[in-house]
Amino acid sequence: MKLLEERILKDGDILGDNILKVDSFLTHQVDYKLMKEIGKVFAQAYQDAGITKVVTIEASGIAPAAYVAEALDVPMIFAKKHKNITMTEGILTAEVYSFTKQVTSTVSIAGKFLSSDDKVLIIDDFLANGQAAKGLIDIINQAGAEVEGVGIVIEKSFQDGRQLLLDQGVRVTSLARIASFDNGQLNFAEADA
Ligand code: 5GP
Repeated sequence: MKLLEERILKDGDILGDNILKVDSFLTHQVDYKLMKEIGKVFAQAYQDAGITKVVTIEASGIAPAAYVAEALDVPMIFAKKHKNITMTEGILTAEVYSFTKQVTSTVSIAGKFLSSDDKVLIIDDFLANGQAAKGLIDIINQAGAEVEGVGIVIEKSFQDGRQLLLDQGVRVTSLARIASFDNGQLNFAEADA
């Protein structure tokens, strides 16, 4: 997605060897106009997949996922990372190791929001080693629902996540694919949409 690549080049900051900071438009401050365009591109890519739910993980997946849900006209569910006393019934959980926080946490979705009739599109802000997406797939499978694909705003293609998902037979659609950060220079691979 050209617009997204241009925005990453303009406003993204490379931290260390493998982290991209995009807090001015995606992970902290949100550019809703860009999110709306992102929503349309994912919706178009999955228009024939019969998607009934969009699933993401809090917090930074929520903004793009909400716009994908709007474009597909389906509900969006975000997995919660912290236990909540209001979540009492039929909770589906998975353990997820966070690449940026370097801790494992239990993420959960109330079972009542997913059923075996659902066809799910997972959306997340970044794909690194694929642990967040893997946890969400696990939860969706527990509900007996079908994962139709994983839509990623920014994939770091030099990490293992894409291969992990492809090995599970899951379709991956990334709007920007970063091939490398060479000496502070960001290089893109060909994106999926
Ligand atoms: P994975 O589970 O694929 O290893 O990592 C994906 C998750 O880690 C995303 O949900 C995202 O929150 C976070 N993440 C991974 N890499 C980056 C990065 O380079 N920048 C930011 N801001 N978050 C990242």
